[in-house]
Amino acid sequence: MPRIDERSVGCDLDGVIGDIVRQLVRFSRLEHKIYLTRTLVVSENVETCAPIEREQLHRLFQNPEFFRSLPVLPYSRRALAKLATSGCAIHIVTDRFWYEGIQKDTRAWLEQHKIPFESLIFSRKSEKNLVAQKLNMGWFIEDQLSNALLLASSCRVLLIDRPYNQGVLPAKVTRVKSLPAAVEMISKAIHTPESNGRVAC
Ligand SMILES: [Mg+2]
Repeated sequence: MPRIDERSVGCDLDGVIGDIVRQLVRFSRLEHKIYLTRTLVVSENVETCAPIEREQLHRLFQNPEFFRSLPVLPYSRRALAKLATSGCAIHIVTDRFWYEGIQKDTRAWLEQHKIPFESLIFSRKSEKNLVAQKLNMGWFIEDQLSNALLLASSCRVLLIDRPYNQGVLPAKVTRVKSLPAAVEMISKAIHTPESNGRVAC
């Protein structure tokens, strides 16, 4: 069995680095005249908690402008820069398959916002944990509870606290208040002498 590399860190994009909820509120109003608020989004399946249909959501995601103009969450660039400086390899793993060319747009967005990363991987939800295993990830930073539960079989997961990811967590998933808090936790772990840069998951 391959060793876990504590300096190999997976990081989700939407809801972790990019402010997907703010963009949903904005584009629902612009394209569908549906007036959502952040407080309505209390489930990762937005159509179950807000007055918008699944098909309407899909149409928003199929609009390239949605991802091209996605706002960056405050302090995320600075936090990831700190993680990279501390010697971690950041692998951004995203389940974006909404339109042809989204891979190119995503890379351009990361570069435009100076987000540091070692690799950018497009992976379906069900395969994120295989990506984590392949890259010997010690950690994964996520915002969706369902993804966190799947990833917990492969590595430690830090779940950014959001109104839409509440619930009981297994031992290998830790709720943290923000991306900077997640980075702080990883930095502390890799700098403790007993870990020697590597831990078993
Ligand atoms: Mg996400």
